[in-house]
Amino acid sequence: MIELQEVYKKYRNGVTAINGIDVRINQGEFVYVVGPSGAGKSTFIKMMYREEVPSSGTISMNGVNLAKLKMSKVPIFRRNLGVVFQDFKLLPSKTVYENVAFALEVIEAQPKFIKKRVMEVLDLVNLKHKARMLPTELSGGEQQRVSIARSIVNSPKVVIADEPTGNLDPETSWEIMNIFEEINTRGTTIVMATHNREIVNTIKHRVIAIEGGKIVRDEQRGDYGYEN
Ligand code: ADP
Repeated sequence: MIELQEVYKKYRNGVTAINGIDVRINQGEFVYVVGPSGAGKSTFIKMMYREEVPSSGTISMNGVNLAKLKMSKVPIFRRNLGVVFQDFKLLPSKTVYENVAFALEVIEAQPKFIKKRVMEVLDLVNLKHKARMLPTELSGGEQQRVSIARSIVNSPKVVIADEPTGNLDPETSWEIMNIFEEINTRGTTIVMATHNREIVNTIKHRVIAIEGGKIVRDEQRGDYGYEN
């Protein structure tokens, strides 16, 4: 469960990006975060994976208060959370297999388990046959599938995605969405910032709209609701 209470975020330059947010997201939900550019979506998302810290208020993620989490505890917290970015952020000198295995190697999982689990998640994203390739040898959609495999290899309860289809063509975007759907069906919470109106209006889920750092709409099976 994710819960934000009276969350404010003012950046050092004086910009208030989040201006009082209270929201609760239950385990297993799929939530789209929408809103115009500059609304505060990225800040909202970044606070959930502890890339940014709120200026005040509390953010509780599966019982951990992120606003109070010590820097030294951040890596441990992140192990239980999957994050997917618009620009994939894969390690360029590592193969597909190595990119996904990395998260399990740092926690010193058993080599036999690592192999089994990595192949399992590569199978889920339909990339088992490209395990030995480098990211540069893959299409954008394939790279995003690797990054999704990496995000779930530790079996996190929550996956946070910041515009995961932002760099992809429409057809590839649907493929990526199908994978997120599958992951969500298996019980993982998904929080996804997106500008993709067609996807939001077709694959219906809860929609949280942010404007001026506040939640202006929160609807189950909502629409995208903006002109562009
Ligand atoms: P969105 O993702 O909806 O486009 P952001 O969360 O990126 O919105 O930005 C919200 C506001 O905060 C904007 O006015 C933006 O310029 C500002 N902002 C974002 N990141 C920073 C930062 N690191 N430092 C200062 N201001 C920032």
